[in-house]
Amino acid sequence: MASRRTLIAGNWKMNGHRADGVARAAALKERLAAAGAVPFDMAVCPPATLIWPVAAALASGPVLLGGQDCHPAASGAFTGDIAAPMLADAGCRFVIVGHSERRHGHGETDAVVKAKAAAALAVGLTAIVCVGETEAERDHGAAEAVVAAQLTGSWPESAGAAGGHAEDRLVIAYEPVWAIGTGRTATPADVAAMHRMIRTTLGSLTDRADQIRLLYGGSVKAANAAELLALEDVDGALVGGASLDADAFWAIAEATPR
Ligand code: PEP
Repeated sequence: MASRRTLIAGNWKMNGHRADGVARAAALKERLAAAGAVPFDMAVCPPATLIWPVAAALASGPVLLGGQDCHPAASGAFTGDIAAPMLADAGCRFVIVGHSERRHGHGETDAVVKAKAAAALAVGLTAIVCVGETEAERDHGAAEAVVAAQLTGSWPESAGAAGGHAEDRLVIAYEPVWAIGTGRTATPADVAAMHRMIRTTLGSLTDRADQIRLLYGGSVKAANAAELLALEDVDGALVGGASLDADAFWAIAEATPR
């Protein structure tokens, strides 16, 4: 089996001003640099206004930078949007696409998510592609079918202009919608079953399924991180609320099995 390095990614969502965002980024940079060899990569995804100042605060340090969304086009008349090349220009290595707050709050379809992921890959970014079922879908026993369909429909077929293997720059985040920002977490058994299914579905999309990191997201905090990160097909976490506190976010990363 391929060895997949754990990724702990923070999604700051629409939170923060320059002073607190920069201070949090600087604190994480200092901690990670001082920690020496750790078994995880760490990334933060600030809101668009903070990408440049956070990039400056993280400069030449080990904490990686990501955007929260990108437009499928490289440039153009798309008021309020941000393009993947702009994120790359600002020093981002990652971009989240298909977050449930985009799928459900902005009506993004799998086809849109797929186009966004392709745009990210084309400029060398790693796309964190989010999938996840609603509570009603889980209650109806449709969780796995919904997630498999989202995954297949959002899958960008090639690495695009940047070349290489798309799989090397794709991360999948399983985020049950009902667990995001609610304090409710999927049970370890449910997470394990879903991640197993995602790995199997990836196997039908690529012969490099073993390379792809699968993150869990949904009310991850220090108290539940160790249990979740220890699961076989869980290769990291996408963290919302708890990533707004450097201590809490660091504690989650520290729960990575050694
Ligand atoms: C998220 O926004 O991706 C998320 C998982 O949020 P939270 O950790 O707050 O549930």
